[in-house]
Amino acid sequence: MGGAVHVFKPRSTGEGFGRSWYPPFNSGASTFFTLDAGAEMTCQEVRFIPVRFKDAYGPVGAWFLLFKSIATNAYGGNYMQDNAAELDKWEPYGKVKPRPANIRNWLMMLDVMDGKSPIYMQTADAIQAIVDTAADEKDAKKKLKELEAEAWEDFLDMTISQAILWAATNTEPDKKPSEIMACDPYFIGSHSGASGAWVSGPEDVQTDETMDEYFWGYANMTTVSGLFAAGDASGASSHKFSSGSFTEGRIVGKSALAFILDNNTLPNVDQSVIDERIAEILKPLDMYEEHKDATTDPAINPNYIRPTQHIYRLQKIMDEYAGGVSAQFQTNDKLMERGLELLAFLKEDSENLAADSLHELMRSWESIHRMYQAESHVRSMLFREETRWPGYYFRNDKPTMDNDNWLAFCNCKYDRNTGEWEMIKRPVKYITQ
Ligand SMILES: Cc1cc2nc3c(=O)[nH]c(=O)nc-3n(C[C@H](O)[C@H](O)[C@H](O)COP(=O)(O)OP(=O)(O)OC[C@H]3O[C@@H](n4cnc5c(N)ncnc54)[C@H](O)[C@@H]3O)c2cc1C
Repeated sequence: MGGAVHVFKPRSTGEGFGRSWYPPFNSGASTFFTLDAGAEMTCQEVRFIPVRFKDAYGPVGAWFLLFKSIATNAYGGNYMQDNAAELDKWEPYGKVKPRPANIRNWLMMLDVMDGKSPIYMQTADAIQAIVDTAADEKDAKKKLKELEAEAWEDFLDMTISQAILWAATNTEPDKKPSEIMACDPYFIGSHSGASGAWVSGPEDVQTDETMDEYFWGYANMTTVSGLFAAGDASGASSHKFSSGSFTEGRIVGKSALAFILDNNTLPNVDQSVIDERIAEILKPLDMYEEHKDATTDPAINPNYIRPTQHIYRLQKIMDEYAGGVSAQFQTNDKLMERGLELLAFLKEDSENLAADSLHELMRSWESIHRMYQAESHVRSMLFREETRWPGYYFRNDKPTMDNDNWLAFCNCKYDRNTGEWEMIKRPVKYITQ
């Protein structure tokens, strides 16, 4: 299968691949390194699906929270109201306020699946509602100008491409609504995404009931002695965001120092092992040099696969089999089993990755790392035989929440020597009541 080019462009929120399937910045590297070291991982099934302005990925938060905008389907229906009966199915999470992000997504997706697309952020109505509170005409004009500036600034601050798209499509937010949609999955420690390493909790918050299960000596140490994880790299903590991640990083730094002082250990690695690793890391460069002249176009070659091809192929497998955008975030056991089969072929072909530059070498390894994140995700979704986060993913073969069996953590471990995966169920124990 090496060298197969998949020209694939899903109906996407933009940016080719979307910013998708993996942590946005670390590209699955932390997952790979912890898995590869044999550390137990947790919540690898718990992904985050953001809703964004379509095609250029503009953030929706300012519109929903600051401008108090509503989103509707193409026919003007308010899906949060019209689909409210659905909330009963997902109690208690369906009934808490604010509604969890995945549940809001889900109510929107029901309209999409019901053929009521596109979904619109009603920007013009939201602006008008604020302008209507003006004291007089002069005040109304001033308010409108300020709101308009705020709306553009929101995009220019964070996602300039969305401002460019508005300009390119003559979109005036005070005059017409803009399309929004759910985009590709992320693996993070925020926005209710909780994937990462299974780490020891801090000692001071443990109770007699949790001590045995959640604490093993050093805060944030993984199940591999001396290996620590923080931020998006550590799991089962779904509301860290940026500030929580760097705070956790500080805690981990102190904890790792305590480990070093207590154990007085420095790694003692044989030079031959280091040489082996260097050769392994640089192999894609050698692969390219060795075979690049076998064809007239170095992108198409029977001996190797280029990183872009690898990334597209991975993205396509995950999108279609693991409930991505084009599958409307739905999957089932059979799709996932087939997805695992295809991932195994991809893993085989990863041995033949070829890089024409240091940049492509980085891309090669990024894609390999993402592949492990992807596999642990599929295996964990398959292991959890229920649907717990509709709107993030939906298992059509197990369409309900099953608290009797699955109010639990789904953990996994990978053995780099045998290539085997172990799936583990860990109990949920409450530290605070
Ligand atoms: C769509 C989206 C929106 C978000 N919005 C917000 C928000 O509004 N506010 C907020 O607080 N949080 C937000 N977050 C969450 C926040 O971005 C993350 O929780 C946070 O960035 C995690 O920090 P981290 O240091 O663990 O990981 P990262 O920020 O991903 O840092 C990991 C670093 O490791 C580097 N790296 C990776 N591999 C290697 C390697 N092999 N060698 C060397 N370096 C490597 C990467 O380049 C990167 O710099 C958002 C997340 C997403 C996905």
